[in-house]
Amino acid sequence: MANNITLPPNLQHKIHTDADAIKAASTDYGHIITQIPAAVLFPSSIEDLKTLIGFSFNSSVPYTVAAKGRAHSVRGEAMATNGVVVEMTSLSKNGSNMIVIGGDKASGFYADVGGEQLWIDVLNATLQKGLTPVSWTDYLYLTVGGTLSNAGISGQTHLKGPQINNVYELDVVTGKGELVTCSKQANSELFYAVLGGLGQFGIITRARIVLEPAKTKVKWTRMLYTDFDTFSKDQETIMEVNKNGSGEILNFLEGQLLMDPTSLDFYPLEDRPRIASLIKQYGILYVLETASYYDDRTKHSVVDKKLHQLFKSLSYLPNKYSKNVTYVEFLDRVRADELVLRKKGLWEVPHPWLNLFIPKSGIQAFNNGVFKNILLKQNFTTSVVLVYPMNRNKWDDNMSAVIPDEEIFYTAGFLDASGFNNWQVFDNKNKEILEFCDKAGIKVKKYLGFHDSKGEWINHFGSKWKTFQDRKTQFDPKMILSPGQKIFN
Ligand code: FAD
Repeated sequence: MANNITLPPNLQHKIHTDADAIKAASTDYGHIITQIPAAVLFPSSIEDLKTLIGFSFNSSVPYTVAAKGRAHSVRGEAMATNGVVVEMTSLSKNGSNMIVIGGDKASGFYADVGGEQLWIDVLNATLQKGLTPVSWTDYLYLTVGGTLSNAGISGQTHLKGPQINNVYELDVVTGKGELVTCSKQANSELFYAVLGGLGQFGIITRARIVLEPAKTKVKWTRMLYTDFDTFSKDQETIMEVNKNGSGEILNFLEGQLLMDPTSLDFYPLEDRPRIASLIKQYGILYVLETASYYDDRTKHSVVDKKLHQLFKSLSYLPNKYSKNVTYVEFLDRVRADELVLRKKGLWEVPHPWLNLFIPKSGIQAFNNGVFKNILLKQNFTTSVVLVYPMNRNKWDDNMSAVIPDEEIFYTAGFLDASGFNNWQVFDNKNKEILEFCDKAGIKVKKYLGFHDSKGEWINHFGSKWKTFQDRKTQFDPKMILSPGQKIFN
């Protein structure tokens, strides 16, 4: 018994109710929401998850269960008020769920990976065999189960699709406590439900991830623009060129706003005064960011020639900035920022983030109304803001993830960090952005989003709502799983 809920007696020694365990499960990377669970499970096997969920399912008073990866959500998505939080990473500490690589050149390589594994560990393990996953997030200290519950996007998405599109097979413990293996061929309804499914249908205990041969080095390039239309046109040109078969050359495409003249570390010292003065003059510079993978077997002259051809067709300001780094340095680039911020005590602070998908038809209006007006005029110039396009045809509409209804759409990520007393200022700015989009008729979809009411969730899912709801009834009929998303609970 913990806080009036009855838990499986045979899990007693793995269930913690002490203050430290409860505190750690009551907060997340957002540091905005606190929800107190009744107990925390530290599982050592998948059997433990089946027991925990099965016991709740068969009880006349079911308790809720939230899988917690690294709680890198920002609005309590991995929490469970008066329910049970499952510390998924306890599975890998126990060594029960290792990374196993299989397949062959003809049928494709894959890695069988526990849902609790961190992507950085998947990278390190697969590289030992000269292989790598194909689609990433910008930051790798996230769990496989956590990103597959959302989508998992980054600069590879335009080319390879999101991480959810690069999975062959899953093992899932459903809301009935049953362990089911699913794929496009077997139990496909569960497979599609879980991918992008916000943890609503089951806990992912294993994912079979698509791999390809890894390169060892990366040419990482940034180009600057003063004009948004030219910037976004060039981003789309790169997408188009890649679509037409030159994907070997540019493997990564992102973009970001540059509004802070003191954040120019990427650029050579001698160019910084010029860039700072451009920021002063224009308010915003748009940074187009690309990466091209290569290795010792790749002939530099060939890569450089192809890159030169492609870059020649773009209209960036004079000077582009390139670095040659290792493949791991590139993929793990956010870790360095994390370590600096941790040292300064600026990592464990509130993160009032907003991530949106914006249909191409609205992106110019979005630039004028949001970037130039709301951000610049209100002086949100130190915010990290990402903006880059992707193709709808790289996503699978059967999956639960929701994207705009246009062939090309952009993601914009407003990745603010604030003080504990002023996160509402950023939150109000985010609300203003959403209100602007609403008034301007820009049909944005939230990514990693929270919604305040069931009505808003129904609106978010749109034509997918009925399927989402039917799948919930099928796989988690007692609404046990992921209550922190506040969709059904
Ligand atoms: P959690 O936050 O612990 O969980 C998220 C949700 O998934 C919860 O509802 C939880 O119950 C559920 N869940 C967790 N594990 C499982 C499982 N095994 N099975 C089923 N459900 C589960 N996202 C991107 O797409 N691209 C990025 O580039 C990116 N960069 C990021 C950078 C930083 C610094 C941070 C903090 C986040 C970033 N994210 C990015 C967001 C990230 O994908 C989400 O936070 C995601 O939830 C992964 O975090 P997590 O593993 O900690 O999952």
